[in-house]
Amino acid sequence: MERYVTVRRSFSAGHTEPSCGPRHHGHTYSLKATAGSKDADALVKALDAFVGEIDQREMTEQFPAVPPTPEGLALFLLERLRLTVPSILRVRIGTGQMSWEVIDR
Ligand SMILES: [Zn+2]
Repeated sequence: MERYVTVRRSFSAGHTEPSCGPRHHGHTYSLKATAGSKDADALVKALDAFVGEIDQREMTEQFPAVPPTPEGLALFLLERLRLTVPSILRVRIGTGQMSWEVIDR
């Protein structure tokens, strides 16, 4: 039987993204990431570090190479988590009633 842990966080960040709106604005995002339960501590540490970098900041200033969208952030975060959380399985980032999920297969 495989065991998993899901860690939830939230953060607020600003962006200018034409597909989302014509002017600069911000969102509060929900973040969920799931990994093997043996990596729980590493997952908490990695997510807290990510939130510390992006919360109350501009997405494009913090991560210039990342598309400033929930999907872009989720893909970026999944790649990054692979470095310190070997069993990372999925990352979900959402705003309001929509979320974007990337799954490592
Ligand atoms: Zn937006």
